[in-house]
Amino acid sequence: MAKELELNSIVTQVMLISPINIIIRVTPMGWEIPAFEAGQFAVLYLPESAPRCTNALPEEKEINPNKMIRRAYSIASSSKNKEYIEFYITLVHSGELTPRIFALQKGDKIGMTTKFTGMFTMDKAPYDANIVLIATGTGVAPYMSMLRSTALNNPNRKVAVIHGAYNSWDLGYSSELSLLESVVPNFSYLPTVSHPQNEIIPWGGEVGFVQQVWQSKKLDTRWNQKLSSENTHVFLCGNPYMIDETIQLLESEGFVEHKGKVTGQIHAEKW
Ligand SMILES: Cc1cc2nc3c(=O)[nH]c(=O)nc-3n(C[C@H](O)[C@H](O)[C@H](O)COP(=O)(O)OP(=O)(O)OC[C@H]3O[C@@H](n4cnc5c(N)ncnc54)[C@H](O)[C@@H]3O)c2cc1C
Repeated sequence: MAKELELNSIVTQVMLISPINIIIRVTPMGWEIPAFEAGQFAVLYLPESAPRCTNALPEEKEINPNKMIRRAYSIASSSKNKEYIEFYITLVHSGELTPRIFALQKGDKIGMTTKFTGMFTMDKAPYDANIVLIATGTGVAPYMSMLRSTALNNPNRKVAVIHGAYNSWDLGYSSELSLLESVVPNFSYLPTVSHPQNEIIPWGGEVGFVQQVWQSKKLDTRWNQKLSSENTHVFLCGNPYMIDETIQLLESEGFVEHKGKVTGQIHAEKW
């Protein structure tokens, strides 16, 4: 087995957020976490011979024990944390890697690339611009890294997370984000659920898609400022349909997507 494909890390924590969402912490074995920027991703890998979790769909193919399955995952932990790398992962029942990740327990081995990469970082936005971080599902992971690293260091900059999920129990990190909102004056958290009729107790937060929360102009009211391409940068992460729709919406308001050589105020990471 090639050296870089050895299972070089150990699972040190598994937290079940809902039956299909976990937070998992991975610690390198015999190597150090490299310097990285909040918003970047690592590649996790396991062999095809690794077992699948029981609630995944069975795989109907011949297993090659020498083949590694590799997928990218955004880092949710702080860039200052040198003990472990945290990931927030959703189960794709028919998928190749996630059913194997969901079968892992504390103490199991996993592979993680020793270098992290990615362009979805906050240095693309000017230091004094408002930052609106919009995500669906596990798309909130890179924002957790940003917030836990340096995103809240500037008391003059306003920062918000608009996080959408089917239901409140799928809103990973909601406790930490609510706590941040209560202790950091320039931080706002707007969680929204698209299926409020399923809630066990009535949901008091936003309802609908993240795009609708942006359109409601709740942030403008809360911050007493009209958010525009002049004063705000918007980050988008998660479901590709949400990203396409939100880009269209923002472009109709004068925002420009930051892409290639074009500098703009919309930064998107599609999975
Ligand atoms: C830069 C980057 C960062 C990423 N970060 C994360 C992260 O932090 N957390 C995370 O959970 N995923 C993340 N992903 C997605 C991840 O890389 C895998 O694609 C995902 O976990 C599915 O892997 P799989 O092997 O189980 O499924 P696959 O065997 O690759 O896919 C099976 C099918 O499921 C579809 N599919 C893929 N993802 C989903 C999904 N989320 N919901 C429904 N259907 C899906 C695919 O289109 C495909 O048709 C990231 C992807 C990229 C490119």
